[in-house]
Amino acid sequence: MDKRPFVTKEKLEEIAREYPTPFHLYDEKGIRENAQKLEEAFSWNKGYREYFAVKATPNPFILNILKDYGCGADCSSMTELMMSDCLGFTGSDIMFSSNDTPAEEFQYADKIGGIINLDDITHIEFLKKAIGHIPETISCRYNPGGIFKISNDIMDNPGDSKYGMTTEQMFEAFRILKSNGAKNFGIHAFLASNTVTNEYYPLLAKVLFELAVELKKETGAHISFINLSGGIGIPYRPGEESNDIKAIGEGVRAVYEEILVPEGMGDVAIYTELGRFMLGPYGGLVTRAIHEKHTHKEYIGVDACAVNLMRPAMYGAYHHITVMGKEGDVCGHKYDVVGSLCENNDKFAIDRNLPEISVGDLLFIHDTGAHGFAMGYNYNGKLKSAELLLKEDGSVEMIRRAETPRDYFATFDFCDVLKDMKY
Ligand SMILES: *Cc1c(COP(=O)(O)O)cnc(C)c1O
Repeated sequence: MDKRPFVTKEKLEEIAREYPTPFHLYDEKGIRENAQKLEEAFSWNKGYREYFAVKATPNPFILNILKDYGCGADCSSMTELMMSDCLGFTGSDIMFSSNDTPAEEFQYADKIGGIINLDDITHIEFLKKAIGHIPETISCRYNPGGIFKISNDIMDNPGDSKYGMTTEQMFEAFRILKSNGAKNFGIHAFLASNTVTNEYYPLLAKVLFELAVELKKETGAHISFINLSGGIGIPYRPGEESNDIKAIGEGVRAVYEEILVPEGMGDVAIYTELGRFMLGPYGGLVTRAIHEKHTHKEYIGVDACAVNLMRPAMYGAYHHITVMGKEGDVCGHKYDVVGSLCENNDKFAIDRNLPEISVGDLLFIHDTGAHGFAMGYNYNGKLKSAELLLKEDGSVEMIRRAETPRDYFATFDFCDVLKDMKY
């Protein structure tokens, strides 16, 4: 599939006159249509709910859009809990799927009534100590180990991942939780990331549904939900096929009817904690070419850097780049598109064939709507950009301002060492 930005060059130039580059721009229309499709794909399941993975795009304006589609919030830290709480997500609107969890975070999650998803069997005692009891509704994260395969394709390597409990620990955990008064149980697993296949969720569902049947038989626990978590991917590269969420929903339904319904478990709710799928394609990083450099390679220097989008530097991730206004030009130049960090991995693209880029051109870096802005950091004292929302009526709303030096220096406000700085 051809990759096109959700916005024209003229519109971007207009936006850039008001909000200097770089910035992340989100497409409200795309977000809404996609959220609607997800809800429909799982509407066969009465208790279905998407808990949006807040860490993917922790912006209150985005969370409020998703709320319109019945989404809850999947949190994994104190500030994510605080943001969700403040926006009115309460009780079972909140899923707390954390790991290596500090006691204060369990306490806060419990205080606001969130559903706690335990990453480890030792967290049962830890939680009990932290909050003084075991909640009636509780979930456990599962890690079967080994390698997660679809046919012969290795999808991911759960045996090498720090998350979740072994099969034996799941049974033990359910027994302990039950004897401590837990009444409604959930099972959660996240076994493969960014899967671009309609088979991942149905296969994961099969593993979890079979486990649920056994757990119910062996421990007598009432399983009230099964959380398929995140992992549905997006096509970052041109030519990759998008996931068909309708087919995924139907695939899960078939396994549900095959495994759970005959066991009298047709009341189990399906939950998801999608992040990338919900937001990824509906955000772009907009940046301007400010330098070209010809040495041993051809470089284009842009005004964004890995601080604004870390995935290429961190994982070597591919993000498609459109040179605005040159969509139809031949990609006759091979560039490294780089940011300004003093780190040689600060490259949005390496040896990428692109149209000839001139200083001043706007570049649209695709699919930054999830795990984009959110992963940002402040290395080299670089500041994080604004986040803007392109609304359905074509207007633009700033949903987070850009950082200023004042924000960067704010953690010295306890003392007067920078009192003479003018910024
Ligand atoms: C990161 C994460 C998600 C979201 O993952 P995506 O790949 O963005 O769908 C969901 N649940 C948990 C526990 C996570 O850590």
